[in-house]
Amino acid sequence: MPELEQSTAGIVAAAGELRRFVLERHPVRGFWTRLDGPWRELCSLQHHPPPVERLLGEAVTASVLLAATLKFHGTLTLQLEGRGLVRLLVAQCTHDLGIRALARIDAPLPEHVGFRQLVGDSRLAVTIEADEQAARYQGIVQLQGETLSDCLESYFATSEQLPTRIALAADAAHASGVLMQKMPSAHAQHEALELAAQRAWEDVQANLHALPLRLLQSASAEETLRRVGGVHDGRVFAGTAVRFACRCSPSRVAGLLRSLGAQEIHGVLAEQGEVSVTCEFCGRAYRFDAIDVERLFASEPSPEAPQSIN
Ligand SMILES: [Zn+2]
Repeated sequence: MPELEQSTAGIVAAAGELRRFVLERHPVRGFWTRLDGPWRELCSLQHHPPPVERLLGEAVTASVLLAATLKFHGTLTLQLEGRGLVRLLVAQCTHDLGIRALARIDAPLPEHVGFRQLVGDSRLAVTIEADEQAARYQGIVQLQGETLSDCLESYFATSEQLPTRIALAADAAHASGVLMQKMPSAHAQHEALELAAQRAWEDVQANLHALPLRLLQSASAEETLRRVGGVHDGRVFAGTAVRFACRCSPSRVAGLLRSLGAQEIHGVLAEQGEVSVTCEFCGRAYRFDAIDVERLFASEPSPEAPQSIN
């Protein structure tokens, strides 16, 4: 049974979970995730047509799987700046598995719309930002495949990373995915062992390719590994919780307002009587009255004040 947790919205939701697994005798590892609770919480905050919801769910799931493959302390972001029907899509996962996401579209969508029309000829940026240092890595995923997982697989293949296969599935209630990687072999000089490892990797790829998406949505991590590992013994490790977590805060919003300048903010205040900012990720509203605005510009902005609430 999935663990129950009290979400910030006060809804009792099944926790999301990330599980790592390995093949016992071959240098192949994998990550499995199911985000039902945090994904439903995220969906309750923004409403999209089903094709966009599906793409957003797949992107959030992918962000969790990609973050799982890394050793880092910070945030991994998948960001699509669209030239297709989706104008903007952001999916983020932190090192401690806090997720948030948003999408913007030019409504209304045509009746039947696929991945290609949604993304057009956009590119997807993968950014990894470290919390403490200014370290930042960015890679670009060419969106030329027929699904998001196709595109991510070619990204791994063309950016000289580990051979990687990904399956993603999402709808309004569930978001799940599995990522498999062939690790560098410890026995690269030993021809027979390397050949066996390569064969096992080929089996895993074929099994993952044959895995029905509806099964990915419903099967446990153990069952998924049994399917993907096939004849090769595997081990599933204990899970880590994935939760919805927005990074917005009063100080981040204050930083954003300061970056817009006193003149602009006083203009909004004069016109509307207050300055109101709503976080696009979580819907939280931040209001600044005349006294708040005065305070905002009276104190020197701290050097770390972020320029964006994102
Ligand atoms: Zn927020």
